[in-house]
Amino acid sequence: MTVAESADTTAPPQTPVRTRTLIIGSGFSGLGMAIELQRRGVDFLILEKSDEIGGTWRDNTYPGCACDIPSHMYSFSFEPKADWSHMWSFQPEIQEYLLGVTAKYGLRRYIEFGAHVDRAHWDDAEMRWHVFTKDGREFIAQFLVSGAGGLHIPLIPEFEGYDDFLASGRAAFHSAQWDHSVDIAGKKVAVIGTGASAIQIVPEIVEDVAELQLYQRTPAWVMPRPNNPIPEGMQRAFATVPGTRAAMRAGIYWIHETVGFAMTKQPKLLKIGELLGKWNIRRSVKDPVLRRKLTPDYRAGCKRILNSDTYYRGIADPRTEVITDRIARFTARGIVTADEHGRETEREADVVVFATGFHVTDSYTYVDIKGPGGEDLVDRWNREGISALRGITVAGMPNLFFLLGPNTALGHNSVVFMIESQIRYAAKAIAAVEKKGVQCLTPTREAQDAYNDELQDDLRGTVWSTGGCRSWYLDEHGVNRTLWSGMTWQYWLATRRFKESEYTFG
Ligand code: NAP
Repeated sequence: MTVAESADTTAPPQTPVRTRTLIIGSGFSGLGMAIELQRRGVDFLILEKSDEIGGTWRDNTYPGCACDIPSHMYSFSFEPKADWSHMWSFQPEIQEYLLGVTAKYGLRRYIEFGAHVDRAHWDDAEMRWHVFTKDGREFIAQFLVSGAGGLHIPLIPEFEGYDDFLASGRAAFHSAQWDHSVDIAGKKVAVIGTGASAIQIVPEIVEDVAELQLYQRTPAWVMPRPNNPIPEGMQRAFATVPGTRAAMRAGIYWIHETVGFAMTKQPKLLKIGELLGKWNIRRSVKDPVLRRKLTPDYRAGCKRILNSDTYYRGIADPRTEVITDRIARFTARGIVTADEHGRETEREADVVVFATGFHVTDSYTYVDIKGPGGEDLVDRWNREGISALRGITVAGMPNLFFLLGPNTALGHNSVVFMIESQIRYAAKAIAAVEKKGVQCLTPTREAQDAYNDELQDDLRGTVWSTGGCRSWYLDEHGVNRTLWSGMTWQYWLATRRFKESEYTFG
């Protein structure tokens, strides 16, 4: 690392801080990028909006929060952990893993905490990114890497009367902003949403509350998943017997790729999953009316397939009521629903949990990015939809990289695998600039368009387009701007080499 460009974190706020590469965010993406740049001797600084590392795994502390991809796969390939306590680890253990990685690579000293990036512009003459935080600090860098991801801006739907509800002194919060100061014990709790977060929250809190109202707009496909602790002997074997941990990781990887094959190439095969999902309902829920309410009418995989052995047990608990009528409004006492005939019912609630997901397809609006000539990327993406070359670089935007950018999220396997592919690609791009002795690189519009035409073509036959549901994978025009279109090894192949022919250098 060269001292000349290393970040001076002690500089007074009004003095811009210079570094070679600015990374936004310190979740899996930001930390992984930092480690790769450190390995290659490239200067960097991480701008982190919060006061701790971890991203998703710092923010989501709701009861029962766990990863729905097995930990031996949902971890860095270069930082294996033999002693994961569960196959699908809970949030504290994943956050602890990331804290350990941060400490091992000494990354903390390169992180500027409380640095919430809100705008960045490219200076044409200087060929540098000028990045500004909400509190007015300025950072200048040759390369800008966004590791912010797409699931970090909580979505709280607007409901009439919500202010009256809050004014009455009752509590409401989003699943990703769980308010641990609110005691839910013995309370009437409403959970809105039945997605990945809700299905973990419901079984975890049901025994503590007096009443659990679960507001379901669309049921999810929930597959059985026994998540017992991994026996100590097995953990020891992972640590000591060569090849065992790698074999476990490979096994997990290929099982998930099989599901990916069905989702992307043969959606009809997902009917097998639906049988499992229906069995999962039957074994816990005896009431046929409730079973029908819980059974999705779309192809499994169209929305994220969820896994739980405890969700339906939580639903079968006498304290739980599944409410499928539309939420009409909030009142000072609770929530009013309206049935298909317009008949209204008010239910009192002390606490409301919004397990309503995130702003995804518009998450890029979180930072105002202006490229050469002041071109506004947010405006362009609002007009054209979000797209990038290989989901990472953007035509007309020099030296700008997105990790988990457009069409690189997954419905079937570990995003950490995608992140690592992107990190390697971005690092190779930075090295190419260095090698050529130039200041910047920009993907050509032709390369980006050709790549995305093929990708959108591939997406046409996938379960996300044909499965008969409306998911957050699709933008307001029904175009999938979120998910990768194939198997993850195909993405690995697509990013393995950095093709200079797809770029202009300047
Ligand atoms: P989500 O899966 O998008 O679920 C949001 C839920 O809220 C859906 O049931 C949705 O209904 C409902 N909803 C949204 N707006 C509503 C409204 N106005 N009225 C009534 N219901 C409304 O969100 P999430 O559970 O936070 O998960 C988001 C993503 O984060 C997941 O897909 C996954 O990628 C990730 N995640 C992963 C894990 C894990 O690894 N275990 C855990 C949590 C989250 P509709 O279906 O009808 O839209």
